[in-house]
Amino acid sequence: MTKKTIGIVGLGLIGASIGLDLCKKGYPVLGVSRNPQTCAQAIIKGVCQQASTEVVLLQEAEVIFLCTPIATIVPSLESLLPWLSTQTIVTDVGSVKTTIVEKCSALWTNFVGGHPMAGTANHGIDAAQENLFQAAPYVLTPLASTPCWAVECLKQIINEELESKVYLTTPETHDQAVAWISHLPVIVSAGLLSAVLTKAEPNILVLAKQLASSGFRDTSRVGGGNPELGVMMASYNRSALLSSLVNYRQVLDKIIDLIEAEDWQTLQDILTLTQQTRPEFLLNLTR
Ligand code: NAP
Repeated sequence: MTKKTIGIVGLGLIGASIGLDLCKKGYPVLGVSRNPQTCAQAIIKGVCQQASTEVVLLQEAEVIFLCTPIATIVPSLESLLPWLSTQTIVTDVGSVKTTIVEKCSALWTNFVGGHPMAGTANHGIDAAQENLFQAAPYVLTPLASTPCWAVECLKQIINEELESKVYLTTPETHDQAVAWISHLPVIVSAGLLSAVLTKAEPNILVLAKQLASSGFRDTSRVGGGNPELGVMMASYNRSALLSSLVNYRQVLDKIIDLIEAEDWQTLQDILTLTQQTRPEFLLNLTR
């Protein structure tokens, strides 16, 4: 089977990592970056065989990955529209799906929303890695109107070439699930840091900083990350995040009530359940 020509817009961590894997597997890959230096670097690193700052380069591409920040995915597709042939498949890698899929599917019939559940804390082309997606989940969120052949083509590339595990679901279900396991933890972790910083007595805060160890490092890690990303998650996945936050507040209130009532048995039951079920959330964790 001839390999499809791949287009990638945005040669950062995710876009360049996709390029590295597909180039290595013998796909013709065309890359678009806003920066001529990134274009030159991409060719040297083996991210793509040709690169340009102009989207017209992608007129030959058969499958295009939009790998720009969430806010620029729809405008990226708009700029590509004059250059697409009727059979071109377009997908994105944005971490939030409902609004992107709604807008992109209205612009392009062969659009399939996607979200690779892999990454690192670094960004830009220098952060790109081979095999970043290997064994990681990769969610596709087709609509009822999305052509099956487009979904099948992407599934094949993602399964066999990126070696990810494909999960198919609706954009809304995806957004609710990532709100629980990704966006809520960021806000909870940031809330923890913020509470310690603003509510602890100054002398206690000094000592707390000196005593903090691995437990605090683990629970504060995602709350101590990039603020722009946190705000983007909250604004683009607002309703799913709010719903999970309200539920989280209810659970927290219940735990406060139990401690006030010295109901240690019920607290023990909750902590036993969380201890037993935590491993179920970590089954896909390979690194
Ligand atoms: P990144 O390393 O910063 O790469 C994004 C790239 O997009 C930049 O390198 C830049 O490439 C281009 N870009 C930046 N601003 C732009 C703009 N205003 N207009 C057009 N292009 C722009 O970020 P990333 O981590 O790869 O994230 C890219 C996408 O992947 C996001 O939508 C994110 O939600 C999604 N995602 C990220 C992760 C993760 O862990 N990081 C995981 C899954 C999904 P050029 O300089 O080459 O133009």
